[in-house]
Amino acid sequence: MRRALLFFFTCAATVLAQGNSDWHREFPSFKIAGNLYYVGTADLAVYLITTPQGNILINSDFEQDVPLIRKSIEQLGFKYGDTKVILISHAHGDHDAATGLIKKETGAKLMVMDADVPEEESTAPGRPGAHVDRILHDHDTVELGGSKLVAHLTPGHTKGCTTWTMQVSDGARTLNVVIVGSPNVNPGYILVGNKNYPGIADDYVKTFVVLKSLPCDVFLGAHGAYFGLKAKHETMKAGGANPFIDPDGYKAYIAERDDTFRKEWARQKQNPGSAAP
Ligand SMILES: [Zn+2]
Repeated sequence: MRRALLFFFTCAATVLAQGNSDWHREFPSFKIAGNLYYVGTADLAVYLITTPQGNILINSDFEQDVPLIRKSIEQLGFKYGDTKVILISHAHGDHDAATGLIKKETGAKLMVMDADVPEEESTAPGRPGAHVDRILHDHDTVELGGSKLVAHLTPGHTKGCTTWTMQVSDGARTLNVVIVGSPNVNPGYILVGNKNYPGIADDYVKTFVVLKSLPCDVFLGAHGAYFGLKAKHETMKAGGANPFIDPDGYKAYIAERDDTFRKEWARQKQNPGSAAP
């Protein structure tokens, strides 16, 4: 039994670590707006917020991606060792597996939403087993060197899934930034009669209310695919208006994800005990 379980976990961790081909592919780092920069891979989004008192990093990706993140930070002229705070979108390996490594290498403080803390500190296969230095609650703020991020609890995808908002200055304008935690119902997720997470469907419903309420100019998220990273980066290189300022794209994305969630929820209500495909 133990051997079977171990085999299962090893396979699950392998599948998770492989992901899609963009997960570990190098992507050029660039300034999004103000003091907010993209330093992730071609799909696993990592954000750097620079301040005079050190920097904030959102998401760690997997341990194998850390050299790319470090290179991205250094190519922008900043220091990896100046990372003072590390935050996550949610406690899944593609966003948090390397939080322990980055803490060890930089001395950054790890701050995580309350309901994701057990997963963050778990030493189960694929989990970072990273000590959380500050436990966050819905609407808590993280402040450093004049920058302020707000943690919005957007649960369902994980119990402590977090959507981060901040304001950045772009010339004379102040822009509202939204970094979506995840509104997705993953394959295998059970929305009806889920014993490990009885309130999961209601949490998704709450999440969409929250996401629809957030003022958004700059639309970002935990995966580049959420907000069209590659196409927008190409547009940005061509010059002109900043393509990441995309309030309509944000609204359309949230509406489509809400619709997809509701269809899957309705399907599972008709087929109790079934899981998302
Ligand atoms: Zn996830």
